[in-house]
Amino acid sequence: MAILDVQNLTVDFLLDDGGTLRAVDGTSFTIDSGEVLGLVGESGSGKSVTALSIMRLLDSQADITAGRIIFDGEDLAQKSEAEMRTIRGQRISMIFQEPMTSLNPAYTVGDQVSEVFRQHLHMGFGESKRRAIEMFERVKIPRAKDTYGKFPHEFSGGMRQRVMIAIALACGPDLLIADEPTTALDVTIQAQVLSVIQDLQHDMGLALLFISHDLEVVAQMCDKVAVMYGARLMEVGESTSLFAGPRHPYTDGLLRSIPRRGQPLTPIAGTIFDLRSPPDGCRFHPRCPYAEDRCRRETPELRALEPAGDGRLAACHFPLAGAGAKA
Ligand code: SF4
Repeated sequence: MAILDVQNLTVDFLLDDGGTLRAVDGTSFTIDSGEVLGLVGESGSGKSVTALSIMRLLDSQADITAGRIIFDGEDLAQKSEAEMRTIRGQRISMIFQEPMTSLNPAYTVGDQVSEVFRQHLHMGFGESKRRAIEMFERVKIPRAKDTYGKFPHEFSGGMRQRVMIAIALACGPDLLIADEPTTALDVTIQAQVLSVIQDLQHDMGLALLFISHDLEVVAQMCDKVAVMYGARLMEVGESTSLFAGPRHPYTDGLLRSIPRRGQPLTPIAGTIFDLRSPPDGCRFHPRCPYAEDRCRRETPELRALEPAGDGRLAACHFPLAGAGAKA
């Protein structure tokens, strides 16, 4: 059953010149309890704005102008800030790319984790300290007891991210949003942190929205994948089948851009458009090798593809056959 059901989410930014920019345009997807959904796409495609909308952490110039964010049966888009404060941290948590921006350099990491237990679960000092040390052990920080009294600057990037994961999961949320959680880390450290996230997701039965531009990491981590381009969803499907046979030309282009041993790189031609002036019709048409006249005129809706029943959705007038070839 879906713990999160995002329906037609639309987010507009007010620009300094008085104009508006649509950063998320009619996005819909679901995440079941215990499921991992990967949200992928180039920078500026709307992935992070989608995540911040769910958390209701958009900055003051941005507004959810349409759609619903149904979390456990209730629409987060209608919640007051006071109601959201009780949901954030306890029911939905988020980890970001750069942990140092979320950790307070003036407090020990132990204080920052135990504070979560004191604030949300009203525990006393002793109990909150014990639980904080327990969380350090769960995120596999060596010598968890000694870690308690250390400050964020005494840790490497990978260890700081583990502290952030401990904070995010302290209250046992139902949904974790991880926005490029390992992008700032070295590859070997990246693998360790991903394995911590994966283990805890499994153990806790968490629903996870995993945002990344790294398709290989997404293929390894996610049950389902949603591909965004220019503020819209282009394709959604089960991870294994989508990576084996993309149906949308943009997904196909992304997969062909991954360096593979012995194979030439085929980058997607052109660059992403300016969101202030999106192209008519299909937003991908200026870069699509399969574009036809209809693509320049008509906007393709995200729809179920044949064969029906495999859950694959794509927003394309002329979807691929499933192995990078035209249908
Ligand atoms: Fe390409 Fe047309 Fe499909 Fe857009 S609708 S992805 S331009 S084939």
